[in-house]
Amino acid sequence: MQIFPCPFCGPRNETEFHFAGELGKARPTTTEAVSAKEWASYLYAQRNEKGAVHEVWMHLPCSELFVMERDSVTMDVLGARSLREGAE
Ligand SMILES: [Zn+2]
Repeated sequence: MQIFPCPFCGPRNETEFHFAGELGKARPTTTEAVSAKEWASYLYAQRNEKGAVHEVWMHLPCSELFVMERDSVTMDVLGARSLREGAE
């Protein structure tokens, strides 16, 4: 079991969190024709980088999305911040 930090609620059990995706992954525009290959790539392809990664997670009890930085090798949590921080 691992403890994840919610920027709004503090440290909580990992079972309270849901992975929402890699930070910065742009959704294809739906106003233009998007091929099945492009759509599948958006939905299922991950960069799967080694080392420090920035991911979007949801803390289910408070329903807030936030950015968590983790080390994909050691699984250590390196930090967490709200989505608003760094977006301004
Ligand atoms: Zn929370």
